[in-house]
Amino acid sequence: MTVDVVTFGCRLNAYEATVMRANAAAAGVADTIIVNTCAVTAEAERQARQAVRRLRRERPDSQIVVTGCAAQIAPDRWAAMPEVDRVLGNADKLRPDAFAPGAPALAVSDIMQVRETAGHLVEGFDGRARAFVEVQQGCDHRCTFCIIPYGRGPSRSVPVGAIVERVRTLVAGGIREVVLTGVDLTAYGADLPGRPTLGQMTRRLLALVPELPRLRLSSLDPAEMDEDIFRLIADEPRLMPHLHLSLQAGDDLVLKRMKRRHSRATAVAVAERARRLRPDIVLGADLIAGFPTEDAAMFANTLAHVGEMGLTWLHVFPYSPRPGTPAARMPQVPGPAVRERAARLRQAGAAAAAAYFVRRVGSAASVLVEAAGRGHDAHFAPVLIQGLDAPAGRVVDARVTAAGPDALIAVAA
Ligand code: SF4
Repeated sequence: MTVDVVTFGCRLNAYEATVMRANAAAAGVADTIIVNTCAVTAEAERQARQAVRRLRRERPDSQIVVTGCAAQIAPDRWAAMPEVDRVLGNADKLRPDAFAPGAPALAVSDIMQVRETAGHLVEGFDGRARAFVEVQQGCDHRCTFCIIPYGRGPSRSVPVGAIVERVRTLVAGGIREVVLTGVDLTAYGADLPGRPTLGQMTRRLLALVPELPRLRLSSLDPAEMDEDIFRLIADEPRLMPHLHLSLQAGDDLVLKRMKRRHSRATAVAVAERARRLRPDIVLGADLIAGFPTEDAAMFANTLAHVGEMGLTWLHVFPYSPRPGTPAARMPQVPGPAVRERAARLRQAGAAAAAAYFVRRVGSAASVLVEAAGRGHDAHFAPVLIQGLDAPAGRVVDARVTAAGPDALIAVAA
């Protein structure tokens, strides 16, 4: 009995791969390969198709099961591939009986009808140091470049009690830092009784798990950050002074055509407020280069946004059309221009990070060790600690002695 999982795309897919592997093993399946697809770009789907064909050539007798967002969005297209034996939707793939003998070849529920989370907390680990806990799933928004809601369904949240219980267990097991994640994290709680906000849930979690040393929030929508998040930024030292914002662009017309909920001014106001409340806070962001109809002036606004927001950690995505999204039907920016703009944004990001490393020389750093002599500090700066012999998962105090090309250089304090 062998169960292999080939997974594409996001952390959520990676978490779910561990659940599927365990369920398939428990079901005692024979020689099985699960291909857990991503649909965020046409390229991601092409790679999964290629993998299916290669795996069939390499293992002609294996059962090949295709799951994930691409399977959820277009199950018939995958079922039509001669190499494929079964197709499972995103809700179906996590059912404990999904791999039971005699299970149907095609099991793809209407994801828009799914209301509950997977019933178990999906989580993942960064070695023994950090645990990612998914507290929210799906999305009710319809950004014009995004296919995720069609693969993941409506927004749904894990009840606070289940999160508290899980985090307690993780900390008892040695985890020192928990990252709360979701597809649209700031939508947390809107579907739960009493509609607890993300900030309220986080405050309750920290109050009920005083032994948790460090908590981090993954990507936040600047238009949906609730008051309690700002209060935590101001008065909760265990909330790490690092926010990752889902900005996508810095031009109001582009943001409007993306169907984002914030304006350039909103984002700047959020950044300024966070800095007033916690002056050492560090901001990261996702930005898309070359969104359809973006001209040179609009791109210049996005490039300038890096500076006006004081962004330090940038994730840059060159736009690629996703069939089935409204943006794919808009006038496209030529490929060379998309790549050139992405390169300029990445350069701006690298320059911002380098300048930040220089400013940190001489400062103190609280570093979560991830592997021999390296880790990330509270601001999510990568740190190399010279001469440190501490195991992964230990939080150590250090002093920054130099700015490296892509990390802080430090010594244990
Ligand atoms: S908020 Fe927008 S980009 Fe994010 S998952 Fe929802 S539709 Fe996609």
